[in-house]
Amino acid sequence: MSDATQLYAIAIGSNRPHGQFGRPAGVVEAAIARLDEEFGLFDASPIVLNAAHGGAGRDFANAVALVQSDLDPPQMLRCLKAIEREFGRRPGRRWGPRVLDLDVALWSGGKFRSRRLTVPHPQLARRSFVLQPLAAIAPGWEVGALNVRHLAFRHARRAPNSP
Ligand code: AMP
Repeated sequence: MSDATQLYAIAIGSNRPHGQFGRPAGVVEAAIARLDEEFGLFDASPIVLNAAHGGAGRDFANAVALVQSDLDPPQMLRCLKAIEREFGRRPGRRWGPRVLDLDVALWSGGKFRSRRLTVPHPQLARRSFVLQPLAAIAPGWEVGALNVRHLAFRHARRAPNSP
């Protein structure tokens, strides 16, 4: 484990098979291993399977990894985009099929905002496919007045069948 000072929660998703890694769950597993190689993993959630959302068509595999790094949030985003490209992701439709999607869900520094990046991720509180795995590894991480477990609980109560 490194002595890096920043902690990031990285949301991982895939809904397309990969020539080498196979089904989306295999892609997510390979992405977790790749993040471990790049940063040294602090923790990773179980991989969960979720029905497709937003018209993407195929089911998703999702997970969340906690990584330590000295990168600042824009550098972290650039690094994640480079890993997506390694896995064959092509820029395109937001909800289109994707081999690998990596998002900055949370950062130990709290809030960050620029034209290209908003942390905490603006959709975090509405995405059970991020909240659920995140709650498995970082339930007490505070996001404003609530923590991750509270957000997951509130989302499940309000929208039990939504993604
Ligand atoms: P995506 O559809 O997940 O590939 O995200 C598209 C764009 O959203 C990225 O290229 C980023 O510029 C932007 N973005 C804004 N906030 C975030 C975040 N917290 N994590 C990842 N991407 C973000």
